[in-house]
Parts: sequence; structure tokens; C-alpha cells
Amino acid sequence: MTYTNPETIALHGGSHRADPNTGSVAVPIHQTTSFQFQDTGHAARLFGLAELGNIYTRIMNPTCDALETRVAQLEGGAAALAVGSGQAATSFCVMNLCEAGDNIVSSTDLYGGTYNLFANTLKQFGIEVRFVDPADPEAFARATDSRTRCYYAETLPNPKLQVFPIAEVAAIGRRLGVPLIMDNTAAPIICKPFQHGAAIVMHSTTKWIGGHGTSIGGIIVDGGNFDWEAGGDRFPTLNRPDPSYHGAVWSQAAKPLGPIAYILRMRTCLLRDIGAPMAPFNAFMFLQGLETLPLRMERHCSNAIRVAAYLAAHPKVARVIHPSLAQGESLKRAEAHLKGGYGSLLGFELKGGKEAGQAFIEKLKMFYHVANIGDARSLAIHPATTTHSQLNEAEQAASGVTPGYIRLSIGIEHIDDIIADLEQALA
Ligand code: PLP
Repeated sequence: MTYTNPETIALHGGSHRADPNTGSVAVPIHQTTSFQFQDTGHAARLFGLAELGNIYTRIMNPTCDALETRVAQLEGGAAALAVGSGQAATSFCVMNLCEAGDNIVSSTDLYGGTYNLFANTLKQFGIEVRFVDPADPEAFARATDSRTRCYYAETLPNPKLQVFPIAEVAAIGRRLGVPLIMDNTAAPIICKPFQHGAAIVMHSTTKWIGGHGTSIGGIIVDGGNFDWEAGGDRFPTLNRPDPSYHGAVWSQAAKPLGPIAYILRMRTCLLRDIGAPMAPFNAFMFLQGLETLPLRMERHCSNAIRVAAYLAAHPKVARVIHPSLAQGESLKRAEAHLKGGYGSLLGFELKGGKEAGQAFIEKLKMFYHVANIGDARSLAIHPATTTHSQLNEAEQAASGVTPGYIRLSIGIEHIDDIIADLEQALA
């Protein structure tokens, strides 16, 4: 049966029903490096992609496959690839399309690790990243040239928490033949980027999908909705014979398997050559997280709305940043792209500046003080003295971080206990 409701997909999506050998209902952890071939013909067919199957866990694994098919179904995509971290997922997203001399256009509003990758590390490999302000979607068109291979953005970037104009930028990209890649880490379930025209979605599964702060991982989903072949020279990695795979042209070779050229090439080339697979044990942990993700997101989101309203009315708080309190164009974008909640990231600024920010963090009793987001537990951090401390005050302000700014990731505890902890720390 094929399901369309996220609550059901999270539990039953994909082909796993019960393990054919043991009847195990939970997806088994296939902790093995390699898989025995049936005979030499079978081995040759697998290597020649005439048949899909397991060869070696760096490239594919049945536990990872169960996660991949479930997340692909949840996002409404064609196929997915699980990797060792969110950072590996982002790196692969770009490297799958770009060669030295190429460029991508990215939103300025990014997770710091992604910003470093784009501004510094990709430069080492001759890939230029052009940063544009997402408040002006047309800036993506202006920054595009014949060597622009993709656009990149986050659905709900912190600390500004302004929902990215996915539909507008995806439409610009489709007009110019450029795919939009969305980091949907902070908005699983509540945002479906493919419905707004994105071509690729990635997640750091470390966050809400895992949900319990136990494992690092990432996943990339191919929407199966972008015509790479029609893009011709814009996509040399997909449309030119690949000497590393008997001259395969991936946009052609993938056809018998479905609209999966992008993700197939990522698995057969990048995962083969660079490595960074997801460990089967971590895939198992993410499958456990996924089962309750739709339910947890409901609570994450409803709690965050209550916290935003509470803080907005507090005399020591100068401003609160949460899409539920957005206005004007930001509100319109939030309403257009998010369904069922506004996410559980929330920022607020204390009137007392840096000292007040640090003192507030010191006083929290239930919230954990960590550099993570998306855990079932409530989390807090003071960015000016931690995640953004390498930036000067002007750079911090440009990225939306002021001295008294606090970032919260609201968990699924009882709302009364969350507010009680904030209340005593503010007092
Ligand atoms: N994308 C976003 C939005 C993130 O917040 C993070 C990590 O904080 C990443 C990607 C990178 O993920 P990972 O830490 O799993 O490498």
C-alpha cells in the first residue's frame, strides 16, 4: 500500500514490512561491510547497474535504504541518499553538479557551518558561491550566469527565522534552467519544498528527524522533478560521459530506474569516491526518530507558539523572533510555505545586552545549554559568546545576532515546565 499521510509514512513508508528471514518488525541493523553475491552473473549485473542491489556498505546498506525510502516518501521525492552528517549532505549537493570554474548562488541566511563550507572550503576547489539576500528573490536571477549550477537556501534559517521564498526562487530557477536545493532541516513535516518547486531537499538528520540528540547524519532527497537532460551543458556531471563509469551519461543511464539521475550519480560516484556514508546503526536511530517525527513536530510547534507569546509580553524582553509573530512579507511567506506550525526555533533579545544574555543562560535549570537544535528536550544558547563569537559586533549584527540575543530550540516537554524555567531564569 502507498500512504500519503506523514504520520503513516513515518511508520510504514518504503518496502520494509517485516524482515523476510526473521519476521523482525523493527528494521534490522545490517552491521556488515559487504554482501555475498549469488553468482558471478549477479555480481556483474550489480556492478553494471543492470540490477540494483547491495554490494558494499560505503555505497548502500539495507538499514540506510529503509531510512532513505521513508524520508524520500515523506518529502514527496523520487529517491534519497543517507550520508554521515548534514555537512556531508550539503557538500555532496553542490559537488554533484559543480566542477572547478562553476558557481552556485546561495542565500546569505545560512547555518554557520554551511557558510564556512561555501565561503572558504569550496573556494579551494575552484567553486564560487555568490551570496544574495533572500529578501529580494530576483537577486538570484541577477547573480546567475551560464556556469551557475544551482541555487541553495534554508527553509527556516536561524537566527533571522524568516521563511525563504521557495516558490519565487524555484520559479526563477525553472525559468533559467537552474535547480533550487533546499536545506529543510528546521522544517520537516511542516514544509514540503517540492510542492513549491524545489528540485532537491536535504536534511541534517542530526536535528528534528533524529530528535533525540544521539546521532549525526544527513540525507539528500531527489525530487525527480527536474529535467537535467534538457539543461544540456549546464549540467556537465550528468550529461557528459563519465570516464569513471564506462562512459555512462547519468541523465541517460538513470532512465530505466526512474527520474533519479541526480541521486544515482551522487551514490555511484561521490559516495564511492569520497566516502562519508551513514553508519547502519545511525540509520536505525534515525528510523526510530522518524516514527514519531510528525507527532513531535506538532508539540514542538505548539509549544514554540506559546513561548513566543509569553516572551513577547515579558518586560525584560526587547523583541522576539518567531514566524508566528512575523508581519508583512515575512508573514506572507511563512503562511505560504509552512503548514501546521511555524517550527520550534525561536530567538529573543534581552534588554540587558550581553551580560543579561550570559546570566540568563547560567540560570536555566531545565533547558540544556548546547550548540544543537531539534532535540526533544528544550535547548538554549547565547550566540554572541559562542556560535558567533568569532565575528565582530558589526558582522554579528549583519547575521541577526545582537549582544542580548538568545536562541531557543523548544522541546516537547509540558509547556508549563518550559515557561516556568524561562520565568525563573528571567527573574
Ligand atoms: N543545516 C542546518 C540548518 C544545521 O543547523 C546544521 C547543523 O547545525 C547542518 C545543516 C549541519 O548538520 P550536521 O551537524 O549534521 O553536519
